Amino acid sequence: MSARPERPGVPNEAGQLALRAMGLRASFDDTDAVADLTLEVHQGELLAILGPSGCGKTTSLRLIAGFEAPTAGSLELAGTVVADDRRFVPPERRGVGMVFQDYALFPHMTVLENVEYGLRGRDDKRALAIEALATTGLSALGDRRVHELSGGEQQRVALARALAPRPTLLLLDEPFSNLDLALRGQVRQELHDIVRETGITTVLVTHDQEEALSIADRVAFMARGRIVQVGAPEEIYLHPRTLDVAEFIGDANVFYVDVADRTVRTPLGSFDAGPARRRAAVVIRPEDIQLSEVGTPATVIQREYYGHDQVLHVRFENGSAEDGPFEEGDTVRVRLSSRERLDPGQRVALRLPEPPLVLDATDHEPAAGG
Ligand code: ATP
Repeated sequence: MSARPERPGVPNEAGQLALRAMGLRASFDDTDAVADLTLEVHQGELLAILGPSGCGKTTSLRLIAGFEAPTAGSLELAGTVVADDRRFVPPERRGVGMVFQDYALFPHMTVLENVEYGLRGRDDKRALAIEALATTGLSALGDRRVHELSGGEQQRVALARALAPRPTLLLLDEPFSNLDLALRGQVRQELHDIVRETGITTVLVTHDQEEALSIADRVAFMARGRIVQVGAPEEIYLHPRTLDVAEFIGDANVFYVDVADRTVRTPLGSFDAGPARRRAAVVIRPEDIQLSEVGTPATVIQREYYGHDQVLHVRFENGSAEDGPFEEGDTVRVRLSSRERLDPGQRVALRLPEPPLVLDATDHEPAAGG
């Protein structure tokens, strides 16, 4: 059934990459929308480009699809150079299917007509469109007009249209952003299953970390027009290489502290400074802090209840940590099971069972007030 390699993200037998971008740049009026897109995507892999708004994600997809010509760098698709300083293969000859953020469907055409639209001029367009509708579970809706469909169904039509010409690479721009929260999880799973079953190499861009972590084989984190780190979701979450990544992916308590004797001191203990030179950012995930009998005394100041869990905002008491009060970061967020009721004013003791992540922040300018 599946044409995917057994281990996603591993090159196929031929060892060929589906995509290799080297130093791709796109500048508009002397400003780099994408400064350096350097990225490899393996055959059959689902890779998510994740990053904050305006970091260059959409422009990256447009460069890959061929809707934008690079100012510098080169791009290979399935081992063939499609863009560099001498060559530029137009979008329709790249074998790439793209699903746009707004789907770009024709609302008054039927589902089948929309899917066939991407196959104009081909003798086999009906057969390919019917195949794509079957793949996306839309066979029963072929005669319906697009404006009569739900948001999730419309997204599947856009996906069917992109898959119908049997592209070798599928690009998805913020595929879930038009769906309401309740539908998002379900549609995400459906899309994941369709992509898996077809075995098509897929690059998805999103600013939603949960989306990226939950469906991608690997995540490429982008900031200010550059790929900063590429890795499996666990790797990106547990071992972020820079503060950009650590702060964007998941919730993080960050203590900025000076390094003294190769040690960093926080209200939750002193730790090895690791890579930090003069100044360190000590990154502590709220779920890594525990309540305990023995620990740093603190007081709950706020409780956010989420049903499945709760986040407490907890303030350390003056002088409670080994060596007295801290200038910054004297409040932390702690994520706990929601079973235990803890109200503002309640006194607790906190501990960190595992050493935290320590990053170098010697050249980092903290945000104003932080
Ligand atoms: P978002 O998630 O908000 O869509 P993004 O990460 O997809 O953001 P891009 O849309 O790629 O980011 O834009 C990156 C930067 O380049 C932005 O500052 C944007 O304003 C700028 N930009 C993009 N396209 C053009 C263009 N055609 N002309 C001028 N500037 C552009």
